[in-house]
Amino acid sequence: MAAMKWSGWGEDDVAFTHEDKPALGPFLQSNLDLDVTRETSRPAAFEGLEVPEPSLSPDLSAALEDAVGERSVSTDPLDRVVHARGKGLRDLVRHRRGDLGRLPDVVVRPAGEDEVATTLRAALDADAVLIPFGGGTSISGSLEAPAEERRTVISLDLSRLDRVVAVDAASRLAQIQAGAFGPDLERQLNAQGWTLGHFPDSFSHSTLGGWIATRSSGMQSDRYGDIADLTRAVRVVTPSGLLVTRPVPHTSTGPSVREMVLGSEGRLGVITEATVQVRRVPACRVILGYLFPTWSDGLAALQDVAASEAAPSVTRVSDANETAFSFATRKAPTALDRVKSRALTEYLERRRGFDVGAMCLSFIGYEGSERHVAGQRKAVGRIVGRHGGLCIGASPGELYDQKKFDTPYIRDFLLDRGALADVSETAAPWSRLSGVYDAVMASAHRAFDELGVRGYIMCHLSHSYHSGACLYFTFAFKPAPEGDELVQYDVVKSAIQQAFVDSGATLSHHHAVGTEHQRWLEEDISAPGVAMLQALFGGVDPGANLNPGKIA
Ligand SMILES: Cc1cc2nc3c(=O)[nH]c(=O)nc-3n(C[C@H](O)[C@H](O)[C@H](O)COP(=O)(O)OP(=O)(O)OC[C@H]3O[C@@H](n4cnc5c(N)ncnc54)[C@H](O)[C@@H]3O)c2cc1C
Repeated sequence: MAAMKWSGWGEDDVAFTHEDKPALGPFLQSNLDLDVTRETSRPAAFEGLEVPEPSLSPDLSAALEDAVGERSVSTDPLDRVVHARGKGLRDLVRHRRGDLGRLPDVVVRPAGEDEVATTLRAALDADAVLIPFGGGTSISGSLEAPAEERRTVISLDLSRLDRVVAVDAASRLAQIQAGAFGPDLERQLNAQGWTLGHFPDSFSHSTLGGWIATRSSGMQSDRYGDIADLTRAVRVVTPSGLLVTRPVPHTSTGPSVREMVLGSEGRLGVITEATVQVRRVPACRVILGYLFPTWSDGLAALQDVAASEAAPSVTRVSDANETAFSFATRKAPTALDRVKSRALTEYLERRRGFDVGAMCLSFIGYEGSERHVAGQRKAVGRIVGRHGGLCIGASPGELYDQKKFDTPYIRDFLLDRGALADVSETAAPWSRLSGVYDAVMASAHRAFDELGVRGYIMCHLSHSYHSGACLYFTFAFKPAPEGDELVQYDVVKSAIQQAFVDSGATLSHHHAVGTEHQRWLEEDISAPGVAMLQALFGGVDPGANLNPGKIA
């Protein structure tokens, strides 16, 4: 897997474009005052960056080369810059400016668990810092070394640990190395008829170890579970040796060590392998599009779906703002598309009484045998109908399914045109979701007003559970010319995060804590909770050599 762009998302030769989406330019002009034809900002040229010399003693350098071989120890400037941060908005903006922060001094690429162990031992002996690196897609500041760090910083890139080691077909468990990227891991499993079913939007560029270390969630979590549910056992190289848990379906062995590793962001050790639940690749898979008259209808319908016997693989409903944005990113319609869309609008307005400005687009996915899928569609269809919604067929769902891994490129497109866009996501019980939504919308708009900028915020509900769901907000604005854009960004982002915790929701459903969300941890898990985490990290890693400064 090739490294991502040093200053943006994804592959070098892939970029988002407005040119084949005729409605996008007018949409951004009217909502953000943004002219899509004008590129006003570009990343600094890599050649012009001031990359400081690495701080790496000859002894440590030799020990690392002994551990993994000379070719797998790199002090190349581009390698160090790519491994310095993740892909959060703050990361992208600072990288684009040429503000590189505390770069790792060296990037080390072990080929197996033994090499991970020897590298960690060398790091501890030299009192160096070691930061595990999966795909580098962290969006919560989980990868950056503290600015004031004086010790040598090693970025441990796990990408050579990329194999599906074995599948226990009877137990439906797969042993997979932690550096395997999403597409590679699925390819290896699919070849044997299995799937992990974990598809985060960052799937193409993130790894199993990264998912586990951040408690990730994929779009099909309704059926497959989050990575925390899928991960049955872990192998972790820690300062005191190899931690191994057993892949049993349940255990009563005190507080769960497996759970402690989940979400540990590299602070407890390096995950080298996990045993995960897998399922047979389904015979039939379909994602249907639905329209609801309003956001509250959509919300109520998905709550009823979660309470029903239906078990879809994907449940998602966008609010009216996100629905409008989705329609604005459609490719140029054909004449037939235009006729169909006019007919649909007329039908919705005249026959169904929809206000198309308030309607909400939803996607619900089904997987399994043909019979199972047909039964599920029927059961969900009845619930949708009760809430005034209607099914608009499979083609919007197919489009969403194809586009989902391309959407991350849009942030770079907006940054090139002087606008900041980012996401904040949370989870809350069903009874509180609508209050959380209202509180966040009000807080974000107050923040836009305070800054004197035109801003846009939209939301979708996804990842439904028995007792609640995730709300995923996306916001964008063009910062005022006076004042630092990251300070302005922080005003909006903090307002949203604060609204989460004030209204009883969590600081993050699946993006982790890192440094980005640390400010709200105590309000989320209480002071004794924070103290417990600090004691855990301090006990396992008394020298604070493992990814210091993250979480708590
Ligand atoms: C555009 C975009 C879309 C995203 N969409 C989603 C989404 O849909 N769902 C979701 O859950 N997340 C999403 N994320 C967030 C991110 O992709 C996840 O946090 C992901 O799990 C990180 O995996 P990674 O392999 O890139 O890890 P990295 O970013 O490399 O690392 C993340 C953290 O895990 C630690 N770590 C990595 N590997 C190991 C290991 N082997 N052992 C110990 N610690 C390790 C790192 O030290 C760091 O603290 C998105 C991010 C972006 C930028």
